[in-house]
Amino acid sequence: MKICINCVLPETFPGISFDEMGVCSYCRREELALAMNPEKKAQYRLKLDNLIRRTVSQDSAYDFIAAYSGGKDSTYTLKLLKERYGARILALTFDNHFVSPQTWTNIKNVVDRLGIDQLTFRLNWPLMNALFRLAAGNDLFPKPSLLRASSICTACIGLVKSLTLKTALEMSIPFVAFGWSPGQAPLQSSIMKNNPVFVRENQKTFKKALPPEIAEPLQGCFIPESYYERYKDRFPYNIHPLAFFDYDEEEIKLEIEGLGWEKPTNTDTNSTNCLLNALANEGHLKRHRFHPYVLEIANMVRQGVMNRQEGIDKIYNDQDPAQVAYAREKLGL
Ligand SMILES: [Zn+2]
Repeated sequence: MKICINCVLPETFPGISFDEMGVCSYCRREELALAMNPEKKAQYRLKLDNLIRRTVSQDSAYDFIAAYSGGKDSTYTLKLLKERYGARILALTFDNHFVSPQTWTNIKNVVDRLGIDQLTFRLNWPLMNALFRLAAGNDLFPKPSLLRASSICTACIGLVKSLTLKTALEMSIPFVAFGWSPGQAPLQSSIMKNNPVFVRENQKTFKKALPPEIAEPLQGCFIPESYYERYKDRFPYNIHPLAFFDYDEEEIKLEIEGLGWEKPTNTDTNSTNCLLNALANEGHLKRHRFHPYVLEIANMVRQGVMNRQEGIDKIYNDQDPAQVAYAREKLGL
């Protein structure tokens, strides 16, 4: 298989082409944007500093609600927001029934060390089982989502995003924080106020991708129609700070280990919390012939926050058969 000599994208990635040197079209396209990056990142840090100063208010009990998976990136995001801003944070953990036991220990250690309140939301198993069984065998969501993640991941993350936003609206929390890595979400979207019109459209698209017998019982995660009018003035900002703060995987691990965080030994190379990811990766690879994390990892290699060999090691290896078998058996596949 041909792989870009600059990033890690393979020839099987949709829309890709290579020049005579072996550099891919995605790398060529990104060149200019990246040249301006260090300055741009500093601008975003300043923007967030000012925005937080202007926006936080004693009227709400929390400044941030953070989508907290217990993985390394969301853990580091909590630490950063707490230490830099002294922010009052509510961490919301979506229990997808595949959270590694070590991750639960990590979550408790981290929120207690940082002095952060934490909430767990767990949908009933028959419903989650039906959703994941469906997503394991089918591409449920619009095509562009397949470039970035497996259907299983997109389903799970869609619920997480909706649930955090819904809770932010109900509790009048002005910021929603995500721990997207610098390769997962672009700098340009890293500080963005939620637009009720777009939110409503996204929710419709998401629900339409699911059969009614699954979409309807998921109502507890979605934004009720009445909220668009009732809470129109409290739609929060979405923030993903790792796009504009220094990002170094080894450094991040060291810092969060200081909070009692330990890397689980039973997750795949691209997750530090989820026991379903190996099966999700394998299914995506079989159907599409590229790894669902390859775009994220290629972006990070290009940005210089990960070296190419580390990227290759994360993407071009087989999924652990024991991890795949565990998930398959639990889902009854
Ligand atoms: Zn490339």
